Amino acid sequence: MAKRDYYEVLGVERGATEEEIKKAYRRLARKYHPDVNKSPEAEEKFKEINEAYRVLSDPELRRRYDKFGHADFEGVNGGAGGFGGFDFGDFGGFDDLFDMFFGGATGMSRRRGPQRGADLRYDLHLDFNEAVFGVEKELDITRMEVCSHCGGDGAEPGSSLTTCPDCQGTGQVRTVRRTPFGQFVNARTCPRCRGAGRWPEKTCRECGGEGRVTRRRRIKVKIPAGVDEGQRVRLAGEGEGGVNGGPPGDLYIYITVKPHELFQRRGNDVYCEVPISFVQAALGAEILVPTLDGQTKLRIPEGTQTGTSFRLRGLGVPHRFGRGDQHVRVKVVTPIKLTPRQRQLLEEFAQVDANADPRGEKEKGFFEKVRDAFESRGRSAQ
Ligand SMILES: [Zn+2]
Ligand SMILES: [Zn+2]
Repeated sequence: MAKRDYYEVLGVERGATEEEIKKAYRRLARKYHPDVNKSPEAEEKFKEINEAYRVLSDPELRRRYDKFGHADFEGVNGGAGGFGGFDFGDFGGFDDLFDMFFGGATGMSRRRGPQRGADLRYDLHLDFNEAVFGVEKELDITRMEVCSHCGGDGAEPGSSLTTCPDCQGTGQVRTVRRTPFGQFVNARTCPRCRGAGRWPEKTCRECGGEGRVTRRRRIKVKIPAGVDEGQRVRLAGEGEGGVNGGPPGDLYIYITVKPHELFQRRGNDVYCEVPISFVQAALGAEILVPTLDGQTKLRIPEGTQTGTSFRLRGLGVPHRFGRGDQHVRVKVVTPIKLTPRQRQLLEEFAQVDANADPRGEKEKGFFEKVRDAFESRGRSAQ
């Protein structure tokens, strides 16, 4: 976005005097100050006016602006760069400028209005099954709450609120700083009344005038079924209490899930590996497999290869539209110890079926593929 000329922003001639610039600024700032002007473009306009005035009201900056234009003032709002060594670190921003010219005198209040309480974070570790099926938990949290004795205004019931003695009701305390560029007024939120501008005649005996108290609470929370690692559950209004009558913040519960010994989870599906014997794989069998809901029967067809997956529909993680699936991957286990009788039977088996070597089966024999592979390598080496 192209920046408008600072003189144009303030509506003054290039040769305008300091007094003319100041006058123009006051007039425009009054008109567009966000406390006064609620139209949506007022805030941007107000920023623009302040930026222009900040440069044109300073003889040195104005001289540089006249010479180099905007190019020399990049980042004038960001505080960094552009000013080439000028330290505006303590300069508190546009509100201060406003106070410099209007503070108190216009009767306009700079008090802080209601503020929302802070959000809180709670890390909750769940067992695999708790995350899958949901669980009710009790959380112990410590938070700032609106004081129930005084209702948050900090005054002992029966006593009234008066003007804050530290800020005289403005909600801000101001310090004047002298710099080579002139006198700057720095305003910050009054620490005593926290910007409210009022202070109780007699402070609340529960909160000492703070309006909030620290409380340890045990909160019951229903964790819905199907939550997963990395997700968070929001409890609206369970964060810290608001200030000056503002609403409370939220409590965010960050979920972590302990791994399961048997199951892995991917989204709403669960996976497990089940060992079967080579006899079960060859002849087929009905086996018991673990599921999230207990054991269930699974039919293994004859001739099942190791690594084959079977899907158990609807036995996965519950979600809004039903449940995911469970995938059972079978692993065929070769026996390690054979009794003499077993050995004898297997040897007989091998004799009966001369083609028992799996490397000779399928369309193209295993050995054929091996031969092809070595031949092609021999060719490419020549
Ligand atoms: Zn209180
Ligand atoms: Zn105060």
